Amino acid sequence: MTPDFVVIGSGFGGAVAACRLAQKGRKVLVLERGRRWLPEDFPRHWGDAWLWSHERPEQCHGWIDARVFRRMTVLAGAGVGGGSLIYANASIDAEPEAFAEGWPPGMNHEELKPYYERAAEMLKPELLPDTQLTRRFKLMREAATAINEGARFKKAPVAITFDPERSYSAPDKFDQKKATKFTNEHGKVQGKCRHLGLCDIGCPIGAKNTLDFNYLAAAENAGATIQPLSLVSHISHEGSTWRSCCAAARNLERCRAFRERSAMVGVRTATS
Ligand SMILES: Cc1cc2nc3c(=O)[nH]c(=O)nc-3n(C[C@H](O)[C@H](O)[C@H](O)COP(=O)(O)OP(=O)(O)OC[C@H]3O[C@@H](n4cnc5c(N)ncnc54)[C@H](O)[C@@H]3O)c2cc1C
Repeated sequence: MTPDFVVIGSGFGGAVAACRLAQKGRKVLVLERGRRWLPEDFPRHWGDAWLWSHERPEQCHGWIDARVFRRMTVLAGAGVGGGSLIYANASIDAEPEAFAEGWPPGMNHEELKPYYERAAEMLKPELLPDTQLTRRFKLMREAATAINEGARFKKAPVAITFDPERSYSAPDKFDQKKATKFTNEHGKVQGKCRHLGLCDIGCPIGAKNTLDFNYLAAAENAGATIQPLSLVSHISHEGSTWRSCCAAARNLERCRAFRERSAMVGVRTATS
């Protein structure tokens, strides 16, 4: 099958593009360099697959792509779900003032508001329930008050499914086996948060609303194909426009090169 669209990368940009194109009836192929991670494979111990190496991707296709430069270190997720696998879940709309300068005309809060709302319908950000305020939260609030910034202190919406039934003072609050399970609207089984503190290295309960649970699940439900361990090395256009393109890639599992042609290639790369 020749796809109508090849989407490179399955992070925030790629997942949304794949989902919406597939829902419009287009044949979509997502090429993702990383693995499709399952909770039992999440890195936990010394020697686990923590790192992705762009120099040796066949041997080293782990959780996080960490590149160290002289004055900066860049971290990006590698896997089906991209940065959502490792991000801290904070889903905050940019304030209107953030668009005051440096943005193209028409790019402002008012224009983006319906899309923030649309993304929130998928990512489902929630506020930490008042019954689950952590010690760290209380200390931060006290510190903010102590420096007269208490009015600015507020909870950040996070793309996590909390369990309003749980209390942070319950003795079994960290027991992941007791997590309440539910099947989400895309048919994926998730669990509700038990405050394990593992968000950035993979929530074993599935309380974190990562893209594989929402946009990518919806894309696959609409017929998209997601191909993990497929590293795209370059794209080229055939003819004089980008309407007919070719992505050259390597399958990291089978160590073989392949090409995918499509009417268009949507490119997303790590920006974190
Ligand atoms: C530790 C951490 C915490 C963060 N916390 C937050 C937060 O709380 N809130 C927030 O809003 N943002 C947060 N961010 C930033 C956020 O994760 C990024 O802004 C977001 O992931 C960028 O989306 P993207 O689609 O551009 O790239 P990504 O989400 O990084 O997706 C890129 C995808 O493309 C794949 N890819 C790259 N190159 C290729 C290739 N050649 N071939 C095939 N596949 C390829 C990658 O494996 C990846 O899956 C955090 C980032 C980090 C690192």
